[in-house]
Amino acid sequence: MKPRVRSEFAKSGYVFAKSPEDIAKEYGFSKVALLGSNENPYPPSDKVLKAAADALSGVNRYPDPKAAKFNAGIRANICDAPVVTSGLGMDGVIETVIRTLVAPGEKVVISTPTFSVYGLDAKAASANVVNVPRKSDFTVDPEEFIREAKDAKLSFLCTPNNPTGTVTPVADIEYILERIDGVLFLDCAYVEFSDVDYLPLLSHDNLIIGRTLSKVYGLAGLRIGYAFVPEWLAGPYNIAATPFTLNKVSEAAATQAVSETAYKNNFIAHVRKWREVFIREIPFPVYPSGSNFVLINVSPMKGDDVMELLAKQGVLVRSCASFPGLGDTYIRVSVGDVWENERFLSAVKKL
Ligand SMILES: *Cc1c(COP(=O)(O)O)cnc(C)c1O
Repeated sequence: MKPRVRSEFAKSGYVFAKSPEDIAKEYGFSKVALLGSNENPYPPSDKVLKAAADALSGVNRYPDPKAAKFNAGIRANICDAPVVTSGLGMDGVIETVIRTLVAPGEKVVISTPTFSVYGLDAKAASANVVNVPRKSDFTVDPEEFIREAKDAKLSFLCTPNNPTGTVTPVADIEYILERIDGVLFLDCAYVEFSDVDYLPLLSHDNLIIGRTLSKVYGLAGLRIGYAFVPEWLAGPYNIAATPFTLNKVSEAAATQAVSETAYKNNFIAHVRKWREVFIREIPFPVYPSGSNFVLINVSPMKGDDVMELLAKQGVLVRSCASFPGLGDTYIRVSVGDVWENERFLSAVKKL
């Protein structure tokens, strides 16, 4: 008999950015502007690098299964609510939350267009996935969302939303929380770049706030995510999770990173400044953004074609054609280092 994989994994999955090495080689650039994955363009601080290097010498021993130092760092520096972690980024938190809460056939609601991981993981868990489209300006209609989310086991809403940048007001989230029976997973991967703070909503016992060290903290390559969860969920989450959620190096780096404010605040200021420059200078419609990227409508051109044209000029951006429900005329561009932003602006003006 020929072994067969489950149909959920037979076709399309997560879409990764094109490889910068390929672009550099194909078009003859010594370095490429990496504006496709919403990363921090600057390396971690010296103290973070040292903490990680010091931890490396102890990796003959297993890490702390409770990641107690990181948890204490989060409580001291960010919020004193129950925390859960994942060494596979917030992607890993999402996967574990679904595993903890959703049985096969149960309803999972997603506000779209958005990050693909919720749908991929929910389908992998054999959930009944229902997408609720945003309005044409990509804001959320709370009533529309509640109509489907009301009886769902778990719902996903991303704010600021990837890839649109849209910020959903705190009052709208509270309105939703008060009208649904299940749990709302609020993906706040980019919240540090916005002006909103959803943490006060954690008094609701059906809210999970997902966060990551990959964006503002500049640790994408270490894969560290965490979430604030209601009291009742922390225990079951840790039972459902793969043991040792953080490794020794990632826990040491992350604990140091969350204790430092200068690195984070400098990058946030840089992002806010360049976001305004992008909105002002890009010769296409740009959507309002609370994150470290902007969504651009390049119509009548196609996002895939514009991605190729920019790659020829040494700039890597993300075509949004693979985001279900968005159409094929959008690109997403991250704020990068100064030279990257300048190269992008000069390239986009030549299109
Ligand atoms: C980047 C991102 C994440 C997860 O990042 P990790 O690197 O897995 O921590 C989660 N949600 C959204 C919307 C993102 O853009």
